Amino acid sequence: MKELQKQVDDWINTIWVTYFDEMTNCAQLTEEVWEVARVMVREYGEQSRKKGKKPEDPTQELGDELADVLFVLTCIANQTWVDLEAAWQRWMDKRNGRDKDRHKDNEKLTSKL
Ligand SMILES: [Mg+2]
Repeated sequence: MKELQKQVDDWINTIWVTYFDEMTNCAQLTEEVWEVARVMVREYGEQSRKKGKKPEDPTQELGDELADVLFVLTCIANQTWVDLEAAWQRWMDKRNGRDKDRHKDNEKLTSKL
């Protein structure tokens, strides 16, 4: 995660001019998440694609959109001084502690096994 944050920061500071402001990136993140939903609803949901709009590799199309989300999310972390690695570790610690047995008896999930 540190490498990802550095890679994005280096790219922004050398190729791009500077970061969009935080609120612009917040809206940008929403836009990119919407693009993920657009792919998901057509590939895994019941929405159909327009004729001739089927991508050669739907997994790559989804991956590209997820990467867009990751990029903007990383921009927001960088410009707000969030250490994603530390945040992720706190997230994992919480799930491995407080939530570790939370879904073991969830029949909606266990019935899928
Ligand atoms: Mg996108």
